[in-house]
Amino acid sequence: MLTLGKYSVGVGDRFAHQAKAQLRACQLAAKAGAEVIPVWNKSNREHTIIGSEPGSVRASADAAVKELNWTKPYHVDADHIRLETVDRFLAASDFFTIDVADSIGQPIPANAVKIFATRHPEFLGTLAIPGVSAPFTTTASDVERVASKYLKAVKDASAIYNKIAWAKGSDNFIAEVSMDETDAPQSPFELLFILAALSNEGVRVQTIAPKFTGRFNKGVDYVGDLAQFETEFRDDLAVIAFAVKQFRLPANLKLSVHSGSDKFSIYPIMKKAIREADAGLHLKTAGTTWLEEVIGLAETGGDGLAMAKAIYAKALTKKDELCAPYATVIDIDASKLPTADAVNDWSAEQFTGALRHDQANPQFNSSFRQLVHVGFKVAAQMGEQYLGMLRTCEPAVSRNVTTNLYDRHLKPLFVG
Ligand SMILES: [Zn+2]
Repeated sequence: MLTLGKYSVGVGDRFAHQAKAQLRACQLAAKAGAEVIPVWNKSNREHTIIGSEPGSVRASADAAVKELNWTKPYHVDADHIRLETVDRFLAASDFFTIDVADSIGQPIPANAVKIFATRHPEFLGTLAIPGVSAPFTTTASDVERVASKYLKAVKDASAIYNKIAWAKGSDNFIAEVSMDETDAPQSPFELLFILAALSNEGVRVQTIAPKFTGRFNKGVDYVGDLAQFETEFRDDLAVIAFAVKQFRLPANLKLSVHSGSDKFSIYPIMKKAIREADAGLHLKTAGTTWLEEVIGLAETGGDGLAMAKAIYAKALTKKDELCAPYATVIDIDASKLPTADAVNDWSAEQFTGALRHDQANPQFNSSFRQLVHVGFKVAAQMGEQYLGMLRTCEPAVSRNVTTNLYDRHLKPLFVG
């Protein structure tokens, strides 16, 4: 089986110009003693907004790996695919994020719950799992509630998994199952249930992306109760270790944290927990790199800064349209958004100060940052004009991409 390494980072490269700068961050981690496997991810949503094809992600990953002599594994992730969108990813990808969030709560055949309950009597009563903060105590109606919530999602994951396995061979890809883009978080007990059901369906899942408690907004820090997050995260790790043995799932099965970039307040918690549990982790990031491109343009000044300002001005006029596909994963306070005229008067330092994720900087503006985060469509519509500016500003752009990924992400989470 193609096996994902213990520590891995999902990197997003919206315009396929930063693969080298991203890989350099993994090289820095390797040099510091942490092997972090790069996975280039791009969702169908991103491809559709930008007008790109999955083959372009493979091509730029291959080129970066060759140019920088990266000899460890690397992967290309078909991010958030479903049955109807997986086809065009089959050739270029060796990692598939099977998104079944929309199937949660969908109806299932009447006998499905009964079949599950008969097969898994251990779910009824009290189940004490080593490392889980409190034993799970469940009644038949709890099992029925959880089953009716998740069995359809698991069935759909299985259908997508089998489609990929038919096309590629079951040993030739890494499967992730994601349920993060939904309103309600999954509890550790629900995670256990989902893993059991995936095992029943023969899905060889290597990473699982639940929705955690708290807000995982795009490009900004975690919002929520840190102590509660820690308990839930540690419980999830213990559930996974148990499920691997109990349900004979792949030994490297690990958590995948989506919208994982910029969650600075929980990195120390996650780092300590995975170390103590000897667990792996996949941290999925995407838009944080695009934001560093805009920072690089602004930092360069002149035409680069002018383009960064134009991107913001346009994003502001199209705010509702740009935000709609990301409604569950952004929290923008419109009253905190500066006018385009105000931004036009900003210096490079003011612009990068507002955009760069440095919470200690009083100029930092998380609403401004989140709007630019979802504003990549504006740059996509600029086409060659934007790409040309990326090349002109390459030194500042790539420096910011590498520094952001290594110093603010890989280092606090995986190194040391
Ligand atoms: Zn996700």
